[in-house]
Amino acid sequence: MQTIAHWVDGKPFAGTSEATAPVTNPATGQVSGQVALADTADVRVAIEAAAAAFPAWRATSLTRRVQVLFRFRELLNERKQDLAAIITAEHGKVLSDALGEVSRGLEVVEFACGIPHLLKGGFTENASTKVDIFSIQQPLGPVAIISPFNFPAMVPMWFFPVAIAAGNTVVLKPSEKDPSASLWLARLWTEAGLPDGVFNVVQGDKVAVDELLDHPAIKAVSFVGSTPIARYVYERGTAAGKRVQALGGAKNHMVVLPDADLDLAADAAVNAGFGSAGERCMAISVLVAVGEVADDLIGRITERAKTIRTGDGTRDSDMGPLVTGAHRDKVAAYITAGESEGATVALDGRDVRPDGDADGFWLGPTLLDNVTPGMSVYTDEIFGPVLSVVRVATYEEALTLINANPYGNGTAIFTNDGGAARRFHNEVEVGMVGINVPIPVPMAYYSFGGWKASLFGDSHAHGTDGVHFYTRTKAITSRWLDPSHGGLNLGFPQNN
Ligand code: NAD
Repeated sequence: MQTIAHWVDGKPFAGTSEATAPVTNPATGQVSGQVALADTADVRVAIEAAAAAFPAWRATSLTRRVQVLFRFRELLNERKQDLAAIITAEHGKVLSDALGEVSRGLEVVEFACGIPHLLKGGFTENASTKVDIFSIQQPLGPVAIISPFNFPAMVPMWFFPVAIAAGNTVVLKPSEKDPSASLWLARLWTEAGLPDGVFNVVQGDKVAVDELLDHPAIKAVSFVGSTPIARYVYERGTAAGKRVQALGGAKNHMVVLPDADLDLAADAAVNAGFGSAGERCMAISVLVAVGEVADDLIGRITERAKTIRTGDGTRDSDMGPLVTGAHRDKVAAYITAGESEGATVALDGRDVRPDGDADGFWLGPTLLDNVTPGMSVYTDEIFGPVLSVVRVATYEEALTLINANPYGNGTAIFTNDGGAARRFHNEVEVGMVGINVPIPVPMAYYSFGGWKASLFGDSHAHGTDGVHFYTRTKAITSRWLDPSHGGLNLGFPQNN
């Protein structure tokens, strides 16, 4: 039985807390390890390491910093299969999907390799006579990253490449459900030549999170997880004077207009609804069928969803198990509740016969038709392979439904009408919009983030928002002494 501990100052750190939590392989239901749960003292050790490493890392030239990033990128690219295997073993997603997760994280590392260009400030010559003004962006100090279970590698990589490239040091607190990817990444940083203490990992739960939120040495917090915790992290972190970006949960709607290509829309709905067993913050969980398309579309989706092979992610499966037994039971209970509230179960994942161990946390693709906004399957984020269909008569009804929803992470419209698509992306109150693209995750050089209850704070992840979040701007006004500057004048300086 392996123990999964912390990583501090370039090496494993056992900590003094004796608390642990079990880590399970979701495809077998077997406990594969025990993860350490840090106490306040353990977290302080990691924060102090990050604080001690900051002055030298901040002073390291951009050229040297970028060389470490390029090396990290090369090592990660060479060994991404190893990381994918770790993700599958603890999260359950199929290997190809785990590899996709690593690739999306790699994109952010590649983006951060361009940090010299991204950190260029402005310069204005002769703003006043012989007075120049310029701006620079400086790192903040030690920053914390708190991540969810569903992307144990990619979500931390939304943040730490940019934070480190910009000259900050990091304490990562991954999800206690799948903690091993974080340690693998920490070792890789050390191998890439990152100085000790620049990247640290503390394993833990609320106790560790609270210390990261309260400790005065932590200057900024990037959080991703469910909405109630995101709101809590935002409020507690900002009350402690920190910069906080807290990305929360989602309920993503996909609108299908009557003129859409229904085969393309059905493929997209199945891929985006059931990929990673629906445990993606950008998964489509509500299909909004407009006008007469519903019956035909649902027929095509059901036909396709029936062919999905649910099973062990290390085998030739399309969809893996859910992350824990408790989560599988919670998702299955939503299907039962939906049925009793009047939804039609068009495809029932509770009957699944998986290609995997009988003790795995299985639930097959489920399609619920005739869902209405009052039902719990509509109001709650289910975070499983359950796609709800809401039937509406018009585009306006679809738009009103989406804009009334408290979440605003992602959405998509399927249509061949350019005018309708343009109107939708203009009118919809959601942070990321797809046009005939069901999971519109922006590339690393754009920023990722939702609106409303899907993000607390005003900075999205990576892209220029990420660089902005991890730096603070200083404006410098300078003049080099010249006889023309002499003379007394107690008035407020006027530009001339
Ligand atoms: P979670 O909120 O349970 O946990 C997220 C992190 O918070 C973990 O590190 C966890 O240890 C910590 N945490 C849990 N309870 C806490 C508490 N009471 N106090 C302080 N910290 C606490 O989320 P999860 O189940 O790991 O992840 C799934 C959720 O994350 C979904 O809601 C999903 O939509 C969301 N998510 C959002 C995005 C996005 O970009 N908006 C991306 C991925 C996942």
